[in-house]
Amino acid sequence: MKNIKDYNLDELKKELEGLGEKPFRAEQIFKWLYVDKVKSFDDMTNLSLDLREKLKQSYDICNFTIERKLESKDGTKKYLFGLADGNAIESVLMEYHHGKSVCVSSQIGCKMGCTFCASTGIPFMRNLSTGEIVEQIIAIEQDNDCKVSNVVFMGIGEPMDNYDNVINAIDILNNHKGLNIGARHISVSTSGVVPRIYDFADKKIQCTLSISLHSANNEVRSSMMPVNNTYNIEKLMEACRYYIEKTNKRISFEYALAKDNNDNLDDAKQLVDLLHGMLCHVNLIPINKIENGKYSKSSLENIMKFRDYLNDHGIVATIRRELGSDIDAACGQLRRKSLGTEKIN
Ligand code: SAH
Repeated sequence: MKNIKDYNLDELKKELEGLGEKPFRAEQIFKWLYVDKVKSFDDMTNLSLDLREKLKQSYDICNFTIERKLESKDGTKKYLFGLADGNAIESVLMEYHHGKSVCVSSQIGCKMGCTFCASTGIPFMRNLSTGEIVEQIIAIEQDNDCKVSNVVFMGIGEPMDNYDNVINAIDILNNHKGLNIGARHISVSTSGVVPRIYDFADKKIQCTLSISLHSANNEVRSSMMPVNNTYNIEKLMEACRYYIEKTNKRISFEYALAKDNNDNLDDAKQLVDLLHGMLCHVNLIPINKIENGKYSKSSLENIMKFRDYLNDHGIVATIRRELGSDIDAACGQLRRKSLGTEKIN
């Protein structure tokens, strides 16, 4: 059966018309799903019993079970959600001074094969549906009785490899009749799937685009990210320039520093040459070590030197505050752990 949360508002109107109903019913259902967050059609009390029955026969409401929840000493919470088909995904809630931010997964597993990322260690199973992406935020809001203000597509998976569902999910998140999260408070991070960056630019979506760059050198970047063999740095930068030209928006480049791999001043110099004059910001991340991983963190002193070099040479760079590393919730530490094979705390 189809999940009713897979439809954005316009699509839901068409579905309702297909059931012989007026489009405003879709707005009522949208409000029940995303404002009142009800878990069953029976709770939609301003719909006729007849319509509720029709909806039950045609659609499911995607509801997750919380299989496991871990809380970090810094307040970050990591959730393992059970999905209807028995799969599981992880999402993270982080507290910042500007509000609550959720890091969502976009796929079950990941195909990109980045050599420093824990999500690589698990086979790709499938894309998440639109409803399954959105449900991560709803389930977290309900569990914490809170309003989420920011969403980052930085969990498991490559959002640009599940483009249509991600775009549809953003539509629901952003809709003021839906979860009402401002587009400027939604970030999509990609390893560099170039054709989709062009699509994203053409759609003029107001979200922040983050690019996982990690090196300005093709040889080093290919050794960290196999996607670079298909779309090298030159092709990626061309797409980034197109995006900036089309949207006039700043790109955020992510750069995870690994000791003696991409963290010396020569690397910083190459990065300055690459990004010079571009409307961008660099987010430096101390690389998080993963199980059997070959990379280790740069020292904080080195990371600060790297940042200072960039800032002194006209590139705005900041060091990302590390959250949730004690519960394996930090960047690159998420992985789909199958249910049952792990102790539930
Ligand atoms: N597939 C997307 C989004 C998921 S990863 C992408 O590649 O951008 C989110 C961010 O965490 C990316 O910048 C990714 O490169 C980074 N990351 C992955 N593993 C990491 C690790 N071990 N340490 C630090 N950052 C990591």
